[in-house]
Amino acid sequence: MPILKFNRRFNAIYLAALLSVLKWDLYYAGQCPRDQSRSVRKVLEHHMEEFLQGDADALPRSCPFHIHRDMYHDHESHKIEESYGKWYCNYCGKSFYAESFLDNHFSRRHPQHVYTGPDSVCLADYCDIFRCDVISGRVDPTFWDTALCIEDDMVELATDCQEVFKRCFTEKLNSGPVFEAINKTMSMVCSSLTCSRYWFTGKVEENQWLMLLKTFCTVFLIGSLIIYYFLAYHHFFSESLFLDNPVPQRHGSLFEAEYYPKPYKRKRLRHPPPI
Ligand SMILES: [Zn+2]
Repeated sequence: MPILKFNRRFNAIYLAALLSVLKWDLYYAGQCPRDQSRSVRKVLEHHMEEFLQGDADALPRSCPFHIHRDMYHDHESHKIEESYGKWYCNYCGKSFYAESFLDNHFSRRHPQHVYTGPDSVCLADYCDIFRCDVISGRVDPTFWDTALCIEDDMVELATDCQEVFKRCFTEKLNSGPVFEAINKTMSMVCSSLTCSRYWFTGKVEENQWLMLLKTFCTVFLIGSLIIYYFLAYHHFFSESLFLDNPVPQRHGSLFEAEYYPKPYKRKRLRHPPPI
């Protein structure tokens, strides 16, 4: 039974290869989710972009938000959005129609560019203080989320937040624009960790105004259509409302003959022929 043995061996190799791929994906997808890391990175870039992109060493290496400690920094810097919905891998030149596909491509084809040094940081680990799910819109708060919020837990979370940011301050870095930027970012991020502000994203008002604008436009459009059709109907068919038969508009045609029957003419009685 050599063929049977070969099939078993082939199946075992195939299964081992499949498990290794799954294990690799689970490691990177489960240990450090790229989408959540991206949420933290966006907040940091929003407040400290010039220090993160321009001069990376402006932040001390002890700061967990140092750009070279981000394990996905090299991947993100090789990610190019050519146009809306079209992403480009700057390692090999392949294009993708979604950022998530490019993320999977990075994990499979370019894993050697993931920084795995002893001080590597998975930014997703700080999602609890950066409120990743709230900011990204992945989670919509329910009534019970806000009703069951415990203020003491929020105070503890805010304390942890400040402790994380304090790692960015050193003896040398106690003033100047970088210090101010870190301080401002810490204030913005950590002050949101209260029961009253945790679920606030700043998009609520925008959504309400957008909803009001959509409602107004819809009502205006429907009203305009109703008025337009009413006027059109009144213009073209109003006379026919009071007539049993519609009046044709084309004179001198067959329509006229049909709708205006000739007046009845009394036939002349001829004398009966003589018998
Ligand atoms: Zn590539």
